Amino acid sequence: MKKNVIIVLIDGGRLDFAQKSKTFQKLTSTMIHFDQSITYAPYTTGAMHAVLSGCYGNRTGVNSYWNIFKFKNDQFLTLADYLSQNNYYTYADGHTELIIPKFGFKEFNVHDEQKINLIQWHSELLENMKQIYDGGQNFFLYLHYSKIHTGISNEVLKIFNNFSKDYFDNLDLNLDRYSKLFHNAEIYLDSILNKIKNLNLLENSIILILSDHGIGVGEKFGERAYGAFCYDYTLKTFAYLYNSDIKPKIISSQVRHIDYMPTILDMLNIKINNSFEKLDGESLMPLIDGELTLEKFAFSETGNPLNKNRPPKIPNIKSIRNSKWKLIHNEYNDTKELYDLINDSNEENNLIGTNPEVEKILSDELLKHKLI
Ligand SMILES: [Zn+2]
Repeated sequence: MKKNVIIVLIDGGRLDFAQKSKTFQKLTSTMIHFDQSITYAPYTTGAMHAVLSGCYGNRTGVNSYWNIFKFKNDQFLTLADYLSQNNYYTYADGHTELIIPKFGFKEFNVHDEQKINLIQWHSELLENMKQIYDGGQNFFLYLHYSKIHTGISNEVLKIFNNFSKDYFDNLDLNLDRYSKLFHNAEIYLDSILNKIKNLNLLENSIILILSDHGIGVGEKFGERAYGAFCYDYTLKTFAYLYNSDIKPKIISSQVRHIDYMPTILDMLNIKINNSFEKLDGESLMPLIDGELTLEKFAFSETGNPLNKNRPPKIPNIKSIRNSKWKLIHNEYNDTKELYDLINDSNEENNLIGTNPEVEKILSDELLKHKLI
């Protein structure tokens, strides 16, 4: 039998909080730790469609909140499609059916994010999957930890807008609010990983723990949480990949959300179907195995609502990034920003116009994604 696949998504998990967290630090001793995992989109739907299809949303069709149901499944397969074709039992659980592509899932459960006890519910789901595995069938289980999102939605999104002075004047309060939400995510993750271990599912499962995007706490005026800008506090996330056949290590080079799907398929020895569109992502196995590979550029985009209530139908901010530099194009007013990510990780000093060579390389890369 092949290995099972378990994805645990910590919706809205910030990288800096994970780096400081004992729960997350512990993972580093058993898992492959990606320290610089770049999302395609700083909001759940865009991010997760990219994770599960291995492709950017400007190609698959899901590049904005408006285009949630426009995933081109006749041209792009999802991880669940591949696994169900390989006789996996596929089950997804999340707080809405809009977050991930449903294609390929035999069961897709929507939980009530305000009421659900996710430790209890996801433990039950793991028990069910264990029975299926014991009965001779592999499973793919997608677990969405929605509670950080729920807290931010109730206490920030519904109360403030992207320009509320009250919000941006109270950074300590914002940090405190987020810290509490993150702490509950740590308790959840600890419990779920214990459950997986106690069910003896570690040896025979590939486990991916990741965040879809970070959440701002008031760093930049104009974005109270996420989805409006392309700065690193939402784009740069964490990921941990477990496979008992692979030694734990820290990968500090930049990787992209779109790389996980081909990596998991590679680990399972499942071939990419060439009669569908080419993937944007690439297997990270050469990087994990220590073979030298060049860092790939990461493309991201989002729709900034600006002073409207809803985001635009198509993205109006695009960015391209490597470990050292980021170029942002604000298409809504045709301005650009260039940041030296090594020396200015908070992206406060816009260097546009001062480094034409870097700008040219990044502009050319970004252009490739605009011409699609
Ligand atoms: Zn999210």
